[in-house]
Amino acid sequence: MHFYADYHMHTNFSSDSHAAMEDMIEKAISFGLKEIAITDHLDCQYPDKEFPFLLDYHAYSEKIAQMQKKYAEKIIIRKGVEFGLQAHVKKETDTFYENGTFDFVIGSTHCVKGLELHGNSFYEGKTQHDAYLEYFEDLYHNIQIYDCFDVYGHIDYVNRYGNYDNRNLNYMEFQEIIDEILKLLIQKGKGIEINTSGIKYGLGYVHPKIEILKRYKQLGGEIITVGSDAHAPDRVCANFKEAYELLHAVGVKAITVFEKQQPRFISISK
Ligand SMILES: [Zn+2]
Ligand SMILES: [Zn+2]
Repeated sequence: MHFYADYHMHTNFSSDSHAAMEDMIEKAISFGLKEIAITDHLDCQYPDKEFPFLLDYHAYSEKIAQMQKKYAEKIIIRKGVEFGLQAHVKKETDTFYENGTFDFVIGSTHCVKGLELHGNSFYEGKTQHDAYLEYFEDLYHNIQIYDCFDVYGHIDYVNRYGNYDNRNLNYMEFQEIIDEILKLLIQKGKGIEINTSGIKYGLGYVHPKIEILKRYKQLGGEIITVGSDAHAPDRVCANFKEAYELLHAVGVKAITVFEKQQPRFISISK
């Protein structure tokens, strides 16, 4: 199967990756990809001090410019970023955004009100239902207040963690709030991503679940990127077959790529 682009990957500019940018790019070239977006993390006020998730914008931009030059004949490299969105870091995040230029911006929820979803702190003392609902409500609020992003990252990320017997997300249980989220994204001209790392985390499927993708399309949503969320070269393009199968199953005809945050649609018809 032929894939066009991997639009979510990290390098050693993220505090949770040791990957050299060259290695990620060369892996992408080896798969015959036409385009990638490097999307290193910026999470302002991340609670775990061992992982500050701050991004050295100037060094990062310089490195990407070098790579674009070096690999110009082989692959298109877009300068992206993945922001960890929370209401109380809006000013800081917007300032970072306004002082830079990006081809592509992912907005993600990694923390809710200062509590990281990675680990158990957010989930403690809450029923599973209440935790998931709070996550979605917070995500909705982020979409209301932030404009900087192009797609929302791993939209059903909440069920990756939490110490529950069954972390399965029952779509029907959260249909109402998920609908509100998707409608607001569409209204604001924002997209979602297929993030294949859900499989690595043992969920057995990519983010988002098929029901959410179906509903996004049904409501008129057209902006969909596909990304591995690779933090090491061996995960570049990982489980893309499953992602493309999902897109075909739902009847999605095109994926989206970005330059200077302007979308362009690439047909994936078989
Ligand atoms: Zn993320
Ligand atoms: Zn990521």
